[in-house]
Amino acid sequence: MTIVDAKIHPALMGSLSPNVTVDEVINFSPGPTSLPAAVEKTIADSFQTPGLTSLALSHRSPEFLAILNHAAASVRSVMSIPDDYEVLFMHGGGHGQFAAVPLNLCRDPSDIATYVINGTWSLRGKDEAQKYCRAQVVDGSDPETGAYTSFPDLTEADIHPNSKYVYLCSNETVNGIELHRLPKLPDSRRHIPLVIDASSDFSTKPIDWVNSGVGVLFACASKNIGHPGLTLVVVRKDLIGTGKASPLCPGVFNYTTNRDAENLWNTPATFNIEVVGHVMDWIQREGGVDEIECRCIAKAKALYDVIDGSSGFYSTPVTNKSQRSRMNVPFNICGGDEDLTNQFLIRSWEKGMIGLRTLTPFGVGDHLRASLYNGVTLEQTHHLATFMRRFCEKYS
Ligand SMILES: *Cc1c(COP(=O)(O)O)cnc(C)c1O
Repeated sequence: MTIVDAKIHPALMGSLSPNVTVDEVINFSPGPTSLPAAVEKTIADSFQTPGLTSLALSHRSPEFLAILNHAAASVRSVMSIPDDYEVLFMHGGGHGQFAAVPLNLCRDPSDIATYVINGTWSLRGKDEAQKYCRAQVVDGSDPETGAYTSFPDLTEADIHPNSKYVYLCSNETVNGIELHRLPKLPDSRRHIPLVIDASSDFSTKPIDWVNSGVGVLFACASKNIGHPGLTLVVVRKDLIGTGKASPLCPGVFNYTTNRDAENLWNTPATFNIEVVGHVMDWIQREGGVDEIECRCIAKAKALYDVIDGSSGFYSTPVTNKSQRSRMNVPFNICGGDEDLTNQFLIRSWEKGMIGLRTLTPFGVGDHLRASLYNGVTLEQTHHLATFMRRFCEKYS
C-alpha cells in the first residue's frame, strides 16, 4: 500500500480545489456549499445581462422591492407557510439567532426556556442563550459514552410549564442526526411554542407548522438555500409585538422591529435574498419540497447502503437508523485508521470529490462527513458511493 505523505497533501488540509484535471468537482462540504447547477447558472447569467444586479441595487428601489417580495412569497409558497407567520430576512447567521431567540421571546433574563440538546449545534445554541434567559436542558447524550446519537423523547417532566419555548435543532449537522418530522410536545405542554434551528435541513422536507406548534424557525442560508450573510426567520405573529422582546434586544435582531420595517430596518443582504428566491423557484420547478425530500432520502440511502454493507469497513456513529440525517452522513474507515483515512481523502479529492473533511469549530472530528444538500445530485452521490465501494473492495 502506498501512503502519500500525510503532512503536506492539500487534500488533508481541507483543500477544495483538486490540482488534477477532473470532469467535475463535487462539493460534499458541510457549508458554505454549492447551489444547484441551474441556480448557479441563473446567477452567473445575471452578471452577463445589462443593467444593475442586486449587488448594486438600492434596497429601497422598486427593482429591489420586487426581488424582496418575490423571495418572501416564494419561500412562503414552497414551504406552505400559513398567513399567521411572518417571513423575515435577517443578519447574523445561525449564531445571531442563538441570541435573537431568547432576546425576542424572553422579556426578562429570569424567564425559563427549554433546550433539547442532541448535538453540537443545539449545545452551542443553549450556551449562547444562557446569557439572556434561564436555559433548562433536556439532555439527549448517551449516558455511557456522552455521545449524541439520537434525539431524546420529550416528556412532561422535561418541560417546565412556564417555559417560554422549547428549542431544538432539527438536523444536527456535525453529529448526523435528523428529525425527519417535528415532534409534538406532550398534551399538557402543547401551549409552548417550538423554536427550530433548521439551518441545515430547511427546504428539504415539508413542515407541519401549525400542528407541530412551531413558534420560530430559523435557517442560516449557507447550507441549502443560499449564501452566508443571510438568515431566514419564520415567526408566528402572536409571538411578536410591542413589549414582547427584552428591552436590550438590538434592533437588527428584533423580530418586531424588522417586521414593522418590512425587512428594511437596515440594509438587508440584497444579493443573498435574491439567491434565496432563485433557489425557491428551482424547488418549485423541480416538483416542490416533496420531490426534494424523495431525492434526499435516495441520496442518503446510496451512502448508508455502502456503509451498512461494508461488514464494518465503514462505520457510522448514528446507530438509530430512524434518525439518520439525510443531509450529513458521518462515517469512518476501519475505526478511524489514519493511513486509510488519509488515503481515502487523497484519492477521492483527486477524483474531484471534495469537502469530506473540513475544519469545524469542534475540530476535525472523529469522522469524515458527506453533506448532501440541495446542490448535490443523486448522480453525484452515486459517484461517491461507487468510489467508497471500490475503496472498500481494495483495502478490506
Ligand atoms: C451551520 C449551522 C449553524 C451556524 O450557522 P452560522 O451561519 O455559521 O452562524 C447553526 N446551526 C446549524 C444546525 C448549522 O448547521
